[in-house]
Amino acid sequence: MPMSANEGGSSLDASGSSANVLKLCRDVTTGQGPHGLKMAPSHAFRCCKRALNWTPVLFINLVIGWSYYAYVVELCVYTIPKDAERISYLVVFHLFFAMFIWSYWKTIWSKPAKPSVAFALPSAEKELYEREQRAEVQQEILKKVARSLPVYTRTAGGAVRYCDFCQVIKPDRCHHCSTCEMCVLKMDHHCPWVNNCVGFSNYKFFVLFLTYAALYCAVICATVMQYFIKFWTKQLHDSHAKFHILFLFFVAALFFISVVSLLGYHLWLVGKNRTTIEAFRAPVFPNGPDKNGFSLGFRRNVVEVFGDQAKYWICPIFSSQGDGHSFVTRLVHIDPEQANTVLQQNGKIPSDRENSPGVEVNTDDDTKEKTEGDQAVVVMMDCKP
Ligand SMILES: [Zn+2]
Ligand SMILES: [Zn+2]
Repeated sequence: MPMSANEGGSSLDASGSSANVLKLCRDVTTGQGPHGLKMAPSHAFRCCKRALNWTPVLFINLVIGWSYYAYVVELCVYTIPKDAERISYLVVFHLFFAMFIWSYWKTIWSKPAKPSVAFALPSAEKELYEREQRAEVQQEILKKVARSLPVYTRTAGGAVRYCDFCQVIKPDRCHHCSTCEMCVLKMDHHCPWVNNCVGFSNYKFFVLFLTYAALYCAVICATVMQYFIKFWTKQLHDSHAKFHILFLFFVAALFFISVVSLLGYHLWLVGKNRTTIEAFRAPVFPNGPDKNGFSLGFRRNVVEVFGDQAKYWICPIFSSQGDGHSFVTRLVHIDPEQANTVLQQNGKIPSDRENSPGVEVNTDDDTKEKTEGDQAVVVMMDCKP
């Protein structure tokens, strides 16, 4: 099941300021010409595009609906002769079906989380930024504002990451999605199969959706196989059920293979604490790009996505840790003095406090993190999402 990573705004990161190009892009997306003149009716076009975006979801729902009918009616009702076998198949099938639909539903309908207002430029700075034509001066304005925010990552060129579409300083791991037309916290990718951005608000649901989709297909394959063979070898009489059962097996096997490979990749990403975007392009910290910048060790990486209470791991109930705006970072290649300096600059710890191995550091009233040697620091913002 292929997924598309779609991140229109990220191209803005490469240059410190490309205000004119961006203004033109914004003009195109809003239907405004370069001089404020109305262009072609973009509203109708956008409505059509939004409706078309639901096509893959509709396709998946039709396949699921048909698979339900084929399994319950054609296999269980018309083909399986014994009651005990029929009932046990139906119970197991409905258990996985319910979990699969629940996690799919949550992935589709969880609104992508966007940066809080704390990341927008204050009105005075915003006015200055918009008036200013020189990229380096604009960067100075952004740097000044970013100093009071828990923002560590930079563009490849070392500039503060700013989204001209949403007019916010991008929090770490946040990216602009051109399909959703918004900045999405801890954006992983835009998934056409759920017509939604996969990010901080629904990444756990997405992984569970893949897991239950794989299990749903596995249950179908395992239970249908003997009847598939019986029809194939003509041990069962030809009936209208034959067509459904043969196709049910092929379709379930096909989906199983594609979903399992995608699930394996995402489980690997969870273990490494990387998003799909970060797997392709390492986040840039003050000390340079570091693909493992957010990795805290396998166990803590899993807990960051699934939460610290194992009972919630299998249910599509939100239990991811943090607020999506800031993340515990592993400041590799930075000596403890330098790491402290970064925190002090952000006003997050007093200057006389030192990080020492295994010491619990309270960097904020709401934040408590155990440091891993001198390398892990936690930065949480004061506001709630
Ligand atoms: Zn944006
Ligand atoms: Zn999106």
